[in-house]
Amino acid sequence: MIAIIKKIFEASPETSKIELKGKCSDCGREIDINITPTSRGIGLSGGALSEFSPNRYSADCPDCYNVVSLITHHFRLKKIKKNLRAG
Ligand SMILES: [Zn+2]
Repeated sequence: MIAIIKKIFEASPETSKIELKGKCSDCGREIDINITPTSRGIGLSGGALSEFSPNRYSADCPDCYNVVSLITHHFRLKKIKKNLRAG
């Protein structure tokens, strides 16, 4: 995701913000994610994006993301999210 967004910013340098509207993949709440370029890459506010398979991404609201962000390893994150859904 980060690579794709970086490409968007590179392709159109006048873009200062990308706004993504969607629903949290966990609780279904409507979210507005603002993506802005920063000196270290990109900054996200209002939610988070996670890759769940190649070129497919899910959006999470800050509340749900805070729960899963404690685990930083992608594979463990995926496993835990699957388990949460199954339960
Ligand atoms: Zn949520």
